[in-house]
Amino acid sequence: MDITERIKQVRNEIRHAAEKYGRDPDAVNLLAVSKTKPIDAILAAYGVGQRLFGENYLQEALDKMAELARLDIEWHFIGRIQSNKTRQIAENFAWVHGVDDLRQARRLSEQRPEQAGPLNLCLQVNLSGEKSKGGVMPTALPGLAHEIAALPRVILRGLMTLPAPESDFSLQREPFRRMRQLLEELRTQGFPVDTLSMGMSDDLEAAIAEGATIVRIGRALFGPR
Ligand SMILES: *Cc1c(COP(=O)(O)O)cnc(C)c1O
Repeated sequence: MDITERIKQVRNEIRHAAEKYGRDPDAVNLLAVSKTKPIDAILAAYGVGQRLFGENYLQEALDKMAELARLDIEWHFIGRIQSNKTRQIAENFAWVHGVDDLRQARRLSEQRPEQAGPLNLCLQVNLSGEKSKGGVMPTALPGLAHEIAALPRVILRGLMTLPAPESDFSLQREPFRRMRQLLEELRTQGFPVDTLSMGMSDDLEAAIAEGATIVRIGRALFGPR
């Protein structure tokens, strides 16, 4: 199967899952995760209408952006944020999904170019409680959301998570259900958040069932890495 076929298949899966759980299929955005994949793969996906692309590695992403500058692509940074790299992230991406502390958010805001419009941020949530994993503890979310709301050049759009892989559907759903609750709590507290970035190639249906608005799909579109 080529990328064109796989993209159609993933779009169908998204539509079916949305309909199955009573959601509007257009409310689930497909972010094509093109890390480690060549320009040709991105062009193939672009050729069948894909516009949102996610990259993890900054230098690789910048090289691709330079080559694809004439295309109408919305770039999302989904990798780990190194504090000495925030300027290039702030200057080149439309979205950053893995924000997990105030210092990063402050730097991104300070370094976002005036003409670019605000940078969209998602806070990465640590649901496992393991300190070694990236992400914000759920109890720290309201405080951090409050501080970020005061920053001028970024806009807090919602939450992102990367749960441990599970093959059982109901186990896949649990962390996504928790994410839905956490987003709802932020909304109740008055934060205008609208985004749940969750679901990858192997758990996209479970994520859509619990309200994902951006699914981040790599292997199911581009093949194994
Ligand atoms: C690589 C990656 C993905 C895509 O994962 P697949 O299993 O290839 O669909 C999604 N999100 C993040 C943060 C990633 O690093």
